[in-house]
Amino acid sequence: MQSKVYHILPRAKRYKYESGLLGKFEYFLKNFTLEKYIAKKDIIPLKIHLGNDGAFRTIRPQFVQKVVERVKKIPAKPFVTDSVRIAGYDYLEVANKGGYNHLSLGAPIVIADGIYGNDSIMVEAGDLLGKVAVASAIYDAKSMIVLSHVKGHIQAVFGGAIKNISMGGVSAQPRNSSWKEGRGKMHFLHGDIMKWNKEKCILCFDCAKICPAECITFIDKVYTVDKKKCFRCGRCARVCPEGAIEVPITHENFMKAVAEGAKAVLSTFDKEKILYINFLIEMQPECDCMPIADTPVVQDQGILISDDPVAIDAATLDLVTNINPLPGSLAENIDIEKNVDIFSLLHGKNGKIQLIEAEKMGLGSLSYTIEKVGD
Ligand code: SF4
Ligand code: SF4
Repeated sequence: MQSKVYHILPRAKRYKYESGLLGKFEYFLKNFTLEKYIAKKDIIPLKIHLGNDGAFRTIRPQFVQKVVERVKKIPAKPFVTDSVRIAGYDYLEVANKGGYNHLSLGAPIVIADGIYGNDSIMVEAGDLLGKVAVASAIYDAKSMIVLSHVKGHIQAVFGGAIKNISMGGVSAQPRNSSWKEGRGKMHFLHGDIMKWNKEKCILCFDCAKICPAECITFIDKVYTVDKKKCFRCGRCARVCPEGAIEVPITHENFMKAVAEGAKAVLSTFDKEKILYINFLIEMQPECDCMPIADTPVVQDQGILISDDPVAIDAATLDLVTNINPLPGSLAENIDIEKNVDIFSLLHGKNGKIQLIEAEKMGLGSLSYTIEKVGD
């Protein structure tokens, strides 16, 4: 069966509010039957990524505020949330600096797995992951709206709805457990710790600087990790400019693990209780958890809305397939091959695998119809 995906077009062709993307988004939400997904008086997580110091290309607060406003009209009670990516308290400070706070959004910011990142509940995920810890504020919710800023990702190739609910809905450090039941397991299926290649290392210390757990030291110029503190986020390997740090997983298994994580999170909701909104705006090459925001690789494509996470991500990839890269961006010299999306070309891996796996697990359909909104 084909799922429906709405596409709010990005251009503003007239000098009036209703013609701009924000105005079209507001108008769409006003006329969309959100009541189908959210019951009156329910407390509703609006799942987003809050960024990082230096990562300013996240979803702009004005768009989140429009969702808050619409949810309150049901009337229901929205809160804006993500699980701990860096220390929980610091993440709230990052959110505030990025313009996400109760005053700007009209709703509170709540860390989904608690300020220490260990409030979570074990949920069956699948063959690869076994059980994983779903963040409690998401686990306890009856319905949810998932707002995803689309961008590239060194390991997942791109981040859309599936990655947002999976890596963002699963806690990194579950209480009374270890990284083995958390998000880290998605990165470390085939081993306990990263492999470091001394010959390749140029001692730039970028890995130590980015580590959110501050657990990398160089004792006698040897990369040393405090295995107890490390929650296996894999960020040190992703930033290493020389490829000197290796995470023990194959691309195919990582993508399957991401889909399994999403399945675990979705299993805590009844069917048709989640709405997905993908923002194809300022699509930079890497994740919003990095301490930078690189220039976008392709032009803005607008906003997609669907209640199918696979369909919305499939439509996302289709919109950035056969598309001209922006001059001056990391993608500028990429040869556009036929029928391959820009993120897969950029990262040299197939980004669609996470969607194919998600469809196999029954999370949605790769087949969809598009309804364009605005001109
Ligand atoms: S980022 Fe890579 S090259 Fe730099 S110190 Fe760490 S391991 Fe070595
Ligand atoms: S995987 Fe690397 S960056 Fe992440 S917590 Fe462990 S040592 Fe730090």
